[in-house]
Amino acid sequence: MSGIQLRKINKYFDNNHILKDLDLFIEDGDFMTLLGPSGCGKTTTLRVITGLENPEEGVLTINGKEMVNGAKGYYAPPSKRGLNLVFQSYALWPHMTVFDNVAFGLSINKTPKAEIRAKVESALEKMRIIQYKDRYPSELSGGQQQRVAIARAIVTEPKILLLDEPLSNLDAKLRLEMRAELKRLHRELKTTIIYVTHDQVEALTMSTKIAVFFEGHLVQVDTPRNIYRHPVDLRVADFIGNPKINFIDADVAYLNGSLTAESELGTLVLPGASSGAGSGKAVLAVYPEDILISSEKTEGAAMLSIYSVMPAGSETLIQLTTRGDNLLLAKVIGELDYPVGKMVWVTIPQEKVNVYDKETGRLIP
Ligand code: ATP
Repeated sequence: MSGIQLRKINKYFDNNHILKDLDLFIEDGDFMTLLGPSGCGKTTTLRVITGLENPEEGVLTINGKEMVNGAKGYYAPPSKRGLNLVFQSYALWPHMTVFDNVAFGLSINKTPKAEIRAKVESALEKMRIIQYKDRYPSELSGGQQQRVAIARAIVTEPKILLLDEPLSNLDAKLRLEMRAELKRLHRELKTTIIYVTHDQVEALTMSTKIAVFFEGHLVQVDTPRNIYRHPVDLRVADFIGNPKINFIDADVAYLNGSLTAESELGTLVLPGASSGAGSGKAVLAVYPEDILISSEKTEGAAMLSIYSVMPAGSETLIQLTTRGDNLLLAKVIGELDYPVGKMVWVTIPQEKVNVYDKETGRLIP
């Protein structure tokens, strides 16, 4: 299979161990997002792939060709790796028009003039900024400049495009628009994209795969859907989802293929548990949108009181107080106006609950 393979990559800055035994495969055509909190090693991983940083240990191959071999001290120069990188600061040349900025990479490759014009115009059209081609960067908004930077990166038709927080300087509306553009671009160009962000919504909306990092460790690599539905540990569960996932302490016991979880929300029986599930202290994780609220008693429901109601346009966020005085957040579509203090019935569909070992933080299968 062709793609980018990282094997046992270790990178140190002075005595700090920054990337720890990193194993990652990015398949041709993937939109792979490196996701994680600030300082976890995402940008360093990108820089290792491009050759701007050299890892002390590990092997990197691109389409089977060895680019890095730490043990042999071999590092292919960035220019030999066939990659194209767009940084967070998009650094356009201020004295050049949009057209010339985008044409620059082609001009130095000695491409014929007519071909340059056709390719630049096509890239500007793809990014929907053709109307600004004669302007200078200072005459453009941040979002338009960002599009120029991306047009400059795609004009040379790179097989692999690396983007480091390219939308971080944009306002919420533009960011949403650009996410859609990038996703469309990925489909159209069939380029492999490696994208760095700490924004989980960005990762979930655009990627075909997400690699989640914590403190230099790669914790989970999977499709956005699987990362969202089955975070492998409590750190990932805590990081994914907006508003945040609820954590509820529970005692679990495994019996005949089912896991019984006793918590302040009552007894939940979760079928399909593996025999390794064991018994003991656990944490249940459930997204706010999976909590069902009713004024009427339903089978297996727990009675909780309304703590606060926060209308948010098309949805309503509701905080509930549990018997143990903990808060639970529910997200309900539509407008709902319960009075504070009202007692309501709350259920959680068992298929929407993930159970974690409280001690190790790992998902119980
Ligand atoms: P952010 O989202 O804040 O950019 P990140 O996940 O991309 O974070 P990195 O930039 O990869 O994180 O940095 C990982 C760690 O390595 C951080 O603790 C950072 O301080 C450290 N680091 C990065 N570059 C260097 C350097 N050139 N010299 C020393 N330490 C560095």
